[in-house]
Amino acid sequence: MPELPEVEVVRAGLAPAVTGARVEGVEVLDARSVRRHAGGPADFEAALTGRTLGVPARRGKFLWVPLGPTRDAPGPDAPDARALLAHLGMSGQMLVREPGAPADRHTRIRLLLDQPGHGPVEVRFADQRLFGGLAVRPTVEGVPDQAAHIALDPIDPAFDASAVARRLRMRRQGVKAALLDQTLVSGIGNIYADEALWRSRLHYATPGERLTQARALALLADVRDVLDLALAEGGTSFDAQYVNVNGQAGYFAHSLNAYGRGGLPCPRCGAAMVREAWANRGSTRCPRCQRRPRGIAV
Ligand SMILES: [Zn+2]
Repeated sequence: MPELPEVEVVRAGLAPAVTGARVEGVEVLDARSVRRHAGGPADFEAALTGRTLGVPARRGKFLWVPLGPTRDAPGPDAPDARALLAHLGMSGQMLVREPGAPADRHTRIRLLLDQPGHGPVEVRFADQRLFGGLAVRPTVEGVPDQAAHIALDPIDPAFDASAVARRLRMRRQGVKAALLDQTLVSGIGNIYADEALWRSRLHYATPGERLTQARALALLADVRDVLDLALAEGGTSFDAQYVNVNGQAGYFAHSLNAYGRGGLPCPRCGAAMVREAWANRGSTRCPRCQRRPRGIAV
């Protein structure tokens, strides 16, 4: 399942192909991939055709492309500005192709673009498992309405680590649940939460309110480092369905210290790591480096 680094890789890969391009045609091949678009496939196609596309943006795992003007539609700064919002879901891909390139499996939507300086480009939304989709949504101050409640992520230049650390320290819940709360901080999924907690030597159930400000800041710095590392490697993927915009599968698991390492030695102390049931998923930790907090049942 794509996490923030994968979505950022997709965003960066899309940018040169779509920025400034004009939508010449839209083809919805599977209506299930536009079920988040209120008006259905025909309205989706009409909403995009003829529009110019802005610079792709991201907040957490939300990815969108601002819609620019047509002759008779308002620009991105108008009150009714809209954006093309992409939900990658479990297996969504945005594939950049030359027109007429061989078909990609599971292609659900095709966007035919005219890119100034390049010419025709095709962007294909492919999604095997159909949890993802595309929608045209209204924006509020440049952010799609569906992403407006999402907090900034740790790699956003405007991220305020001190303020987020203070809010984290007001939580009674375990730090892992807090890190996964998209209204506190976005873009952290199960994989990177496990990695950051391992670096910080914290048990997932440690209540936020037990952290000092320095410890909370150190945890957020560890989150940032883990995400930066994954970004530098092009994202981490554990799902064979995930490929980047160029269609290449991304496997960057070699830098993981915790996630997926249940039963393997802790890279720091050598103790056998444990994978435990947690919130309907798993959580992997080192029983020696990341001890259960006193008085907390897990
Ligand atoms: Zn250890």
